[in-house]
Amino acid sequence: MQKIKGSLPLQIFLALGLGIVAGLIFLAAGATDFTVNYIKPFGTIFLNLLKFIVVPIVITSIVQGVVSLSDIKKVGTIGLRTIIYYFCTTAIAITIGLLFANLFKGTYKVLQTSDLSYEAAEPTSFMDTIVNIFPSNLFQPMVDSTMLQIIVIAIFIGFGIIIAGEKSKVFKDWIDSSYEVFMVIMKGIIKVTPIAVFCLITPVVAENGPAVLGSLAMVLLTAYLAYFTHALITYSIAVKTLGHMDPIKFIKGAFPAFLFAFSSTSSIATLPVSLECAEKMGARRDVASFTLPLGATINMDGTAIYQGVCAIFIASCFGIQLTFSQMITIVLTATLASVGTAGTPGAGMIMLAMVLQSVGLPVEGIALVAGVDRIFDMGRTGINVVGDLSAAVIISDYETRREAREAKAAAKAKEKAEA
Ligand code: ASP
Repeated sequence: MQKIKGSLPLQIFLALGLGIVAGLIFLAAGATDFTVNYIKPFGTIFLNLLKFIVVPIVITSIVQGVVSLSDIKKVGTIGLRTIIYYFCTTAIAITIGLLFANLFKGTYKVLQTSDLSYEAAEPTSFMDTIVNIFPSNLFQPMVDSTMLQIIVIAIFIGFGIIIAGEKSKVFKDWIDSSYEVFMVIMKGIIKVTPIAVFCLITPVVAENGPAVLGSLAMVLLTAYLAYFTHALITYSIAVKTLGHMDPIKFIKGAFPAFLFAFSSTSSIATLPVSLECAEKMGARRDVASFTLPLGATINMDGTAIYQGVCAIFIASCFGIQLTFSQMITIVLTATLASVGTAGTPGAGMIMLAMVLQSVGLPVEGIALVAGVDRIFDMGRTGINVVGDLSAAVIISDYETRREAREAKAAAKAKEKAEA
């Protein structure tokens, strides 16, 4: 009993199990409407609170991350390395997703669905996407939760603090103190996660019970196989070769964060847990406090896998065969789409529209997978967070080695000068 009280992931898991059972009972009792009208809203309140806390947490944590690196050049090199790593692993992730979906394609049947309605957002061109990263107003991005613009603002504020030096002390202290305050609020929100998970999963099961167990089970299985293949193979190879860390140690170390992400379906909400896991695995605090919040907003390997699998699934449901070049387009668009996906529940499904549109697939197809999005989301968020942690470990190792090399070279130069 004491163990259940103390362990949040365990409570969340129990809530998940209870929610599934409750959902099946409500379904059997014909009370699906009750779950949607009276249970789901409490889950929605939780999601709203998460969305509300995301912006201040991302701003303050990225500013702190940049300032802790204390040198603009260092932010640049670490940032660039981190982003390149994130892009490469995301492209690998989506390729794995497409491979698995192609393997399992034969098992996807054309689904019957009553409401094939989904409003797609207007697609934006590549150049517009670049221009849109830069904000024209300090507050608008915070109001609209435009995450890329928020990251840019945070990086600029961080640079400003570094350059202004002593004069920025009051402002820096204010950011540090705000971070602590928002973290306390976030921890409070996180405490009610078990109740929220129960309230969110019950209506999903009550609405989709037989469908989850039927045709959609195959596409869910495909996504989960791809998630785990990516986690076990790609990250193991990456942390071993690039981060010089034993993959078993990494998997064990990342597990609490995975579990939390799996249950909360939010990379941002998982940030405090990921930071703790990174430090326990020996990652440097200055590196982790920059790469993890950045990853929670722009690195979404699980989301990319989900988008690849769903693209093939939706194409199959509509009897469409995708060509090789269309698949390459999916790899590119899903990699970019994952950058624009905020680390909040359900965000990846919205970006799926962009991926489908890039290859001319019917966007209404999203309705086929929307009902079980939460189940996809649990796995993809878990993988997103493990991906962020792998970067923290790898970049930390790189930085430590680079500093050691530089110190050695400096010592040698000093010896030479003295001789
Ligand atoms: N829930 C995911 C995350 O927080 C984003 C997504 O919906 O794919 O990482």
